[in-house]
Amino acid sequence: MITETIKNIDIELKEKIAEVKSCPLCSLIMDYEFNGLAQIQYEVTHSEKTRKQIAQEGGFCDFHFRQFKKIASGKTNILLLKAFIEEGSYKKENFTIECRICKYINEYEKNLLEAFTDIILSEEKRIEFNRTNGICFVHLRQVNTLIRDENTKAWLHRTHIEQIERMKADFNLMNTINSFYEIDIEKRSLINILIEKIAGRKTGAL
Ligand SMILES: [Zn+2]
Ligand SMILES: [Zn+2]
Repeated sequence: MITETIKNIDIELKEKIAEVKSCPLCSLIMDYEFNGLAQIQYEVTHSEKTRKQIAQEGGFCDFHFRQFKKIASGKTNILLLKAFIEEGSYKKENFTIECRICKYINEYEKNLLEAFTDIILSEEKRIEFNRTNGICFVHLRQVNTLIRDENTKAWLHRTHIEQIERMKADFNLMNTINSFYEIDIEKRSLINILIEKIAGRKTGAL
């Protein structure tokens, strides 16, 4: 999908941590996914070989088929589905899907999680990370399985709890304002930020 990714992954991650208010890992994955989908739709449009390969992989998973459908033109969708009818894996009685987009993203995510666990070893980065809203619960659970040092894990958990509790005053204040639209837009954005902190974010389109 994207070739020169891994090289600058820690630089990109450090930048995201400083720049976004929601989970920097989710944010980078969304960027990566969007770029990858754009690239795949280009290849599907122009390369018969790619169409055939994807057809033989069983197409994409539900989630990525829908994203692909949105990003690609009607004509490109038709080309891919026509290739699937003609040469899809089902012809060999293989009814499974090996979604290449999931595969690329899983690899990228794995590298990102490793880069993250390295970054938080630095005291300076910890101070900076503590000031942000941190990572989502989904990625926290994944990072947990990678951290070997108990002190680092304890620090990350403490930070995660603090990052949520810090929002209490803002939510209390918002709760005292009767009209939602009288609430400062910056404060209102905390609603999305907290939802993303809890659930993570899989798509930029919704
Ligand atoms: Zn996340
Ligand atoms: Zn997929």
